[in-house]
Amino acid sequence: MYETARPAVNTLARATSVNPALRPLRRRFRHYPCYHPAMLRLCLGFLAAAGVSAAAVRARALTPGGAAAATAVGGIIIGLGGPGPAALLLLFFATSSFLSGSETRDMISAKGKRRDARQVVANGGVPALAAALGTIPVLQPPAAAAIAGSLAAVTSDTWSSEIGRRAQSRALHVRTRRSVPAGTSGGVTPAGTLGGIAGSLIIALADARITGNARRVLPVLMGGLAGNAIDTILGATVQEVRACPSCGILTEQRVHRPCGAETSVCGGVAGFDNDLVNLGAAVGGALVAVSLAR
Ligand SMILES: [Zn+2]
Repeated sequence: MYETARPAVNTLARATSVNPALRPLRRRFRHYPCYHPAMLRLCLGFLAAAGVSAAAVRARALTPGGAAAATAVGGIIIGLGGPGPAALLLLFFATSSFLSGSETRDMISAKGKRRDARQVVANGGVPALAAALGTIPVLQPPAAAAIAGSLAAVTSDTWSSEIGRRAQSRALHVRTRRSVPAGTSGGVTPAGTLGGIAGSLIIALADARITGNARRVLPVLMGGLAGNAIDTILGATVQEVRACPSCGILTEQRVHRPCGAETSVCGGVAGFDNDLVNLGAAVGGALVAVSLAR
């Protein structure tokens, strides 16, 4: 996708075709799938994603299943998207892992600090699909906008929920207009809203800096903010709400981690969990960025 990526990874193919001394190497390896430039890029992408995922498992930011999903999703984004999308993905992953708090203190969110496979696909599936579609030349410009827009959306969402939960204890629920604990889906706080704007802006600015395309700052920023708004609206309306019978509080956890009690659905659409909400936000972010980037 990025021209600067190609010379480096084409080196093997070119070197073995130009240098007669390397011809035996060329004969030896030409039937290996990784020999072809596109496949070589993909192989290098999977290797890089596997390395980052392994480090993330050791840092307890990913479960082993989450690492497998991150290797697949990250490998496609890095290998087919190129260095620009790879940098945006790393920016999202590093900042959201850093902002995620300790798992035990969190009373509400469904999953702890460690991201599992479903969560990884919910956040990274849309940019990975866009990176794959971007290999079709005519789809390359909208695919690049879709990757940045969807990553801006998931970054914005993560930053607003983590920063909101840390800065404030209460949030305003957008549908019921009642005060709810900060971190509740569908709740908004001033700190979280500012955090969400900052998260989307950092992806939009990084994308413009990497691609040199300043005209995409606004589309990507708006994609991120739209994704965040979609997340809040879906979280306030259709996302399932569960209640802990022993603590008497609303939560997203199937088994309430602080007390160990089994929770039951008491609102929203059963099965429509936070991962589906995040997927909806990523799709919305991609579509808004693509339509504004024209
Ligand atoms: Zn409980």
